[in-house]
Amino acid sequence: MKYTMAIIGFGGMGSWHAENVLSHIDGITVKGVYDIQKSAQDKALSHGLYVYGSLEELLEDREIDLVTIATPNDSHKDYAIALLKAGKNVICEKPVTMNVSQLEEIMETAEKSGKIFSIHQNRRWDKDFVIIKTLLDQGELGRPYFIESRVQGSRRAMYGWRGHKTNGGGMVLDWGVHLLDQLLNLIDSPVVSVDAHLFSLYSDEVDDNIKIFLRFENKVSALCEMSTNCLINHPRWHISCTDGTAVIEDWSCKGKIVKLKADSQMSWSEDIVYTEAGPTRTMAPRPEYTTNILELPEVQTDWSDYYKNIVNVMEGKAELIVKPQQALRVMKVIEKVFESEETGAGVSCHI
Ligand code: NAD
Repeated sequence: MKYTMAIIGFGGMGSWHAENVLSHIDGITVKGVYDIQKSAQDKALSHGLYVYGSLEELLEDREIDLVTIATPNDSHKDYAIALLKAGKNVICEKPVTMNVSQLEEIMETAEKSGKIFSIHQNRRWDKDFVIIKTLLDQGELGRPYFIESRVQGSRRAMYGWRGHKTNGGGMVLDWGVHLLDQLLNLIDSPVVSVDAHLFSLYSDEVDDNIKIFLRFENKVSALCEMSTNCLINHPRWHISCTDGTAVIEDWSCKGKIVKLKADSQMSWSEDIVYTEAGPTRTMAPRPEYTTNILELPEVQTDWSDYYKNIVNVMEGKAELIVKPQQALRVMKVIEKVFESEETGAGVSCHI
């Protein structure tokens, strides 16, 4: 085994990291865990992992090349800086920090240390996202102009520390980070305005249902929405392009593309149609012979590619896929999200 890793925070995500790395990544082994809770320490021991008695013990462990931080969001910055100063390569869970200035502090430290610093934006490898990215890269639906990206549930609660502001809870800093990171990777243009509607329906402290509208300089607009109180879901993705529409219903990636036939305008009837809602020309249903229904592109995705990239970067064979600069851009948009909610208006920017 070439590289040895430790994990700080062995809860839901920390144990996922251990399992994922141990089962899928040839170049890395997981040695141990640092967690402040006895139950998490016991879980680590039961997985055959070493449990560090203090952060200092971990920082001084010369065997450790790489540390993944998977603690609540308010502790990411101090851990990342201490680890980088101790000469460790660092992966940090998302949201990397609570705000832009904290991330800039880490990036400065990372630069001085010469060590790797990356953020676990694993949802860039989600199948639904990769299908949409492939579709837009292929460009066969014409120019995209409105992208809707949603995750919707109805459990209402923000569980545990996610319900507390001081811990960096709330939906913007939870799923919001993923959906914004995906959108910024999908649309190659600066964000020029952010209009956010944040609701705190079931929490006194944090947002739990959110809608964020983004306008990009290249005239693409996007909506990302996350709900904990949606009892009739929208599709996971709905993409409007000049020559077609694509939909992905849910994480199973069922969906379809409806594309205009090349000669569809020629054979289009201009007649008024009488519908249940009365006469209409613009909203009349389009005759089926003017469109083709197509399958979504087939894609192969694998979350472990994140760690494979980290191994390749440590070996000097590749560049980081998830770069701190990209996380900084997401954090800048997030600051505009909170500003928009505070002012009750859209916020202009160039991010
Ligand atoms: P969790 O509550 O399940 O686990 C957190 C663990 O950290 C617990 O074991 C807790 O004892 C420990 N901990 C708390 N404070 C600590 C401290 N100061 N020092 C050391 N250990 C501490 O939370 P989780 O769901 O695993 O989330 C952890 C991080 O992972 C968060 O940043 C979250 O946003 C992120 N996350 C990312 C994804 C993803 O898909 N990338 C999914 C879930 C969570």
